[in-house]
Amino acid sequence: MFEALSTRLNGVFDKLRRRGALSEADVTEALREVRVALLEADVALPVARDLIAKVRERAVGVEVIRSVSPAQQVIKIVNDALVEALGGGEGAEAPGLDLNAPSPVPILMVGLQGSGKTTTSGKIALRLRTRDKKKVLLASLDVARPAAQLQLQTLATQAGVMSLPIVPGQSPLEIAARAMDMARRELFDVVILDTAGRLSIDDALMSEVAAVKAATKPHQTLLVVDAMTGQDAVNTARNFQDRVGVNGIVMTRVDGDARGGAALSMRATTGAPIRLLGAGEKLDALEDFHPDRIASRILG
Ligand code: GDP
Repeated sequence: MFEALSTRLNGVFDKLRRRGALSEADVTEALREVRVALLEADVALPVARDLIAKVRERAVGVEVIRSVSPAQQVIKIVNDALVEALGGGEGAEAPGLDLNAPSPVPILMVGLQGSGKTTTSGKIALRLRTRDKKKVLLASLDVARPAAQLQLQTLATQAGVMSLPIVPGQSPLEIAARAMDMARRELFDVVILDTAGRLSIDDALMSEVAAVKAATKPHQTLLVVDAMTGQDAVNTARNFQDRVGVNGIVMTRVDGDARGGAALSMRATTGAPIRLLGAGEKLDALEDFHPDRIASRILG
């Protein structure tokens, strides 16, 4: 992810560095090129526009242009703006999951079919068990796809955690209630509820997910989106935010050649932080999302 964007931005900044002294026109021209690079990387238009406006405001100041290394200053300002767009900066929440709630902590996984929701549930379970020493219960509420509950059961075995026994014929709400009940009785720390996805946003899906959310009151509602879907991922996120309400985003397939713009647009579009990244099919391919490290990666 971000390779093309990184190359483009480096080109712009190399040119700026070679100039030495900078005029306001040089900065304006460089920022125009940065804007084009952001748009080509699939950053949403209003997000790119705001980012550039912010950088321009900070960069055309006399001190920057007259400073010893003006190009370096401009790059630093772009870096800071990227960190902010990615949800970082002063006062930002620490990355990763927020499990700061009484046990059993419910985590609700939502998203479109194929986004990597079930795989991510398994990845989170493995990490919580091995790194955080948590007792985790996995439960699939997906009654639409016959194989879904079995798929989660298999992942639970691979992750070394328990999964809710399958009872055919139950509704998602009944399964959720049973999962919470088992978690309370058997003193689980965390319950991961994996909901059914659809190929695209539809009312039935949204109502089902909203009903499960109202019944289980999850501490974290994590939206899983596929980075490869670019602008669509951002639209999906906006929809889920409006209709269900999420407080974290997991972006998957960042191991692919996604252009990365979705990651830069998510925070401004939904207000929710990206908490985790999925970087492969294996269960250990889960990373914390560090805005500052991502910005450094983009700026190379
Ligand atoms: P769901 O329908 O949202 O539950 O999606 P699944 O979890 O079943 O994942 C769909 C496919 O995407 C599977 O083949 C996964 O192995 C794959 N997948 C999930 N996350 C990632 C990821 O981060 N990187 C890659 N390369 N593949 C992933």
